[in-house]
Amino acid sequence: MSKIKVKTPLVELDGDEMTRIIWKEIKERFIYPYLDIELEYYDLGVEYRDKTDDQVTIDSAKAIQKHGVGVKCATITPNADRVKEFSLKKEWPSPNGTIRSILDGTVFRKPIIINNIPPAVKAWKKPIIIGRHAYGDLYKDVEMQIPGPGKVELVYTSAEGKEERVLVHDFKGSGVVMGQHNLDKSIESFAKSCFNYAISEKVPLWFATKDTISKKYHARFRAIFDAEAQKREAELKAAGIYYSYYLIDDAVAQIMKNEGGMLWALMNYDGDVQSDMVASGFGSLGLMTSVLVSPDGKYEYEAAHGTVTRHYRQYQKGETTSTNSVASIFAWTGALHKRGELDGNSELMDFAKRLEKAVIDTIESGEMTKDLIPLSTASNKKQLDTFQFMEAIQKRLG
Ligand code: NAP
Ligand code: MG
Repeated sequence: MSKIKVKTPLVELDGDEMTRIIWKEIKERFIYPYLDIELEYYDLGVEYRDKTDDQVTIDSAKAIQKHGVGVKCATITPNADRVKEFSLKKEWPSPNGTIRSILDGTVFRKPIIINNIPPAVKAWKKPIIIGRHAYGDLYKDVEMQIPGPGKVELVYTSAEGKEERVLVHDFKGSGVVMGQHNLDKSIESFAKSCFNYAISEKVPLWFATKDTISKKYHARFRAIFDAEAQKREAELKAAGIYYSYYLIDDAVAQIMKNEGGMLWALMNYDGDVQSDMVASGFGSLGLMTSVLVSPDGKYEYEAAHGTVTRHYRQYQKGETTSTNSVASIFAWTGALHKRGELDGNSELMDFAKRLEKAVIDTIESGEMTKDLIPLSTASNKKQLDTFQFMEAIQKRLG
């Protein structure tokens, strides 16, 4: 069989611990034998990040900007323990945070649906993709405890020195107060990324806030989304999808009765809460993928889980591990499919779909890693270790 030629380099970001072990295995089993591809490699393993003073992370983000598509392995975000463990120069920032801020992107989380792994919510049949705005609101708030009677006001002083003020509350006794902000530019980037991803995945876009109550703050988010929807009307129509605004409480109620298959865009706090609800409703972290999409249409694919340190400790001791590689494999297929789409390479797109089908068929036939065993309704379940599972997929891929 001749290999499929890929004309544009794919940006590859290597990572840490158990996911780094799986990463190498994925390339050897599913990539090199089938594809004639140039992988532009960046080693984001924590030791090399430290060696380059984190320059490698910045370079990798720039490479994604240049080529358009990247695939990333999970990486350690160092804390004090990790600094000691690896003798690091300092607690380097999260690579995901660095890459997200360079690309000005939004992270979308999408579960992988498998027939014999039913979601906790019976109605759910298709993935519910969550897009969470990652700037401001509660996460950049200022707060004050009010000790006793007195007035709290919001004061805006323009650059020219003009003042505008509104009363927050005239306190008669003690209480609390909070100030939040967001930026049009950040909300616009978020909206653009959401429309990009919905159009790219051909799924309807839901956006939900509480604009009936928050007539300026939440209403601003809605206005920016509505304006973007108008601008993108022709693209939405061509993709056969719609954009719809909901009140957040209505959206939550609808989601529980809906079969899924939409992109649900949410403000920062709502996204934080609802993404955990949806993730646990769909089952295992090993089945959750993640993609970073920039407003100018650059894509970085990864698994939503971390480096699975606990399993890596077992691996280091030579013990058998049962780490689920599905989300990492789907990071590769997501990236390859997107690369194929951008290059007009249908053979590559078919290959990505074939690999995904091989993964799903393997699990649906009863062969799976330990985390899926209690979730699966298959009658003939067989627990495989990390490597046996990938071997089983490779056999199906042929
Ligand atoms: P984690 O790596 O996601 O693992 C937490 C636990 O979830 C594991 O111990 C395991 O449970 C289960 N799990 C996660 N992925 C699994 C898989 N593929 N197959 C089977 N089980 C899986 O989170 P963590 O242990 O809190 O973090 C480890 C490191 O990852 C940290 O250094 C953190 O900074 C980093 N991290 C990176 C990213 C990223 O790069 N995007 C995201 C999150 C965390 P059992 O042990 O019970 O089997
Ligand atoms: Mg959360």
